[in-house]
Amino acid sequence: MDGSSNGVIASVLILLGPPGAGKGTQARMLEERFGFVQLSTGDLLRAAVSAGTEAGLRAKAVMEAGELVSDDIVIAILKDRLADPDCAKGVILDGFPRTTVQAEALDTLLEASGQRINGAISLEVDDAAMVTRIAGRYTCAGCGEGWHDSFKQPKTAGVCDNCGGTEMKRRADDNAETVASRLEAYHAQTAPLITYYQNKAVLHRINAMGDIAEIATEMGAIVRGVTQ
Ligand code: AMP
Repeated sequence: MDGSSNGVIASVLILLGPPGAGKGTQARMLEERFGFVQLSTGDLLRAAVSAGTEAGLRAKAVMEAGELVSDDIVIAILKDRLADPDCAKGVILDGFPRTTVQAEALDTLLEASGQRINGAISLEVDDAAMVTRIAGRYTCAGCGEGWHDSFKQPKTAGVCDNCGGTEMKRRADDNAETVASRLEAYHAQTAPLITYYQNKAVLHRINAMGDIAEIATEMGAIVRGVTQ
């Protein structure tokens, strides 16, 4: 990553947390509220898999097993996306970095344009609750809004409140077996980043077991504090 193709990005926020912690939901709310771009490497990889690109073909089986895709693939995908003009207004990284190598690559990329991370927010949750959370979640195929069988149901069953769409989809890797691998990968490879960002004095911790709206309010206050 040399950062040469990358312009200045107004703010860079990182959401850390295990699968099911609510990173995607909160990132979407921050996107709407602050005008930042939500950038999910999981979404970018799923798009690459659907498009059948070389990176997608290499990533598919790894994702199905709930393991981490190699750093070189993920860093290349993220770097390309960050160079898009819409990212200049600020980004919320959801699911990246997930390894120390990725975190260091991001620092190098930002340093090349004289920037640094504004804040890393760690969404802290109980592992035991994550399997239930993940097993019940689905998204609207039309607009991407996230829903849940128990915790966030649309007003009319099967109809998206946000766009009126009726096609809902569930992720292939949201099953109990794969979730166990994903949690394991989180603890082994991603949780060390909490200390990494703590040492850089940019870490904020949030108890993410509560109400979605209350967590969003708390996150909003942090984001305002670190981006103004
Ligand atoms: P997510 O949508 O963030 O839960 O990611 C789904 C899957 O994509 C993960 O289980 C990994 O296989 C892969 N993935 C997403 N982001 C990364 C990343 N930053 N590094 C490695 N693998 C990733």
